[in-house]
Amino acid sequence: MKVLDKKVALITGAGSGIGRAIACLYALEGAKVVVSDIDEKGGNETVQLILKDGGDAFFIRADTSKASDHQKLVEASIQKYGALHIAVNNAGIGGPLAPVGEYPIPGWDQVIAVNLTGVFLGMHVQIPAIIKHGGGNVINISSILGKVATATSPAYTAAKHGVIGLTESAAIAYATQNVRVNSIGPGYILTPLLTKTLDPATLGAIANLHPMARLGKASEVAELALFLASDKASFITGSYFNVDGGYLAQ
Ligand code: NAP
Repeated sequence: MKVLDKKVALITGAGSGIGRAIACLYALEGAKVVVSDIDEKGGNETVQLILKDGGDAFFIRADTSKASDHQKLVEASIQKYGALHIAVNNAGIGGPLAPVGEYPIPGWDQVIAVNLTGVFLGMHVQIPAIIKHGGGNVINISSILGKVATATSPAYTAAKHGVIGLTESAAIAYATQNVRVNSIGPGYILTPLLTKTLDPATLGAIANLHPMARLGKASEVAELALFLASDKASFITGSYFNVDGGYLAQ
């Protein structure tokens, strides 16, 4: 018996990085996986990786900043697999880098729309569906910047702080209805989110901000997401957990 046998899991932003690692691990552990992303190529690649390993998955394109896309996504999951038990709200963007006074307003709007409103819009339709199918859990991907800040990431920092509060509110609201809601705060993880915009020297400097003096791996975040999604975490809700090589302990 695998940890997620008979479970249906939906993961946003699963065409790359952390979302892909979670999707692949969940599938390996028996879940039927709904892979979602705005990036169709990346999303379909994740599905192929899962199918190659004998898992079950399909891709649905959804922009998490749009309420109607979340609705479509949940409906498609239920139509294809007959249920929804686990949702991972992982899709996120880095956004511009500038202090508040110089931060571009459209950049603020976009980061809040994807990284914070996207999580609300997701849970808004996922949780009623999860309840209808007998209960389950939601995992929201925050960040170490859900607890601390950098001077040049006001929108990202505000959104990720918001995700932790939103997670707590939802957890309390549904605690007696067999839905657990938790958030994860990764440190800097080596994914395209970082490699697309940062040069190797900057990545090296960022690695050294962690007591473990390295960047994290997407698979290390996925292992925590697997534990939280499983019944082994049955008394855990409303919590925020770090996978950060000691970053927040400093
Ligand atoms: P990633 O490799 O860039 O993957 C994110 C995926 O989400 C990409 O495929 C991206 O597509 C997609 N996406 C972007 N906007 C979307 C939208 N509106 N709707 C649906 N999908 C969308 O990033 P990652 O590092 O795996 O990050 C995953 C999550 O972890 C994010 O919430 C991020 O904030 C969080 N996190 C990451 C780190 C880190 O250091 N990597 C640290 C802490 C927290 P495009 O590539 O087309 O944009």
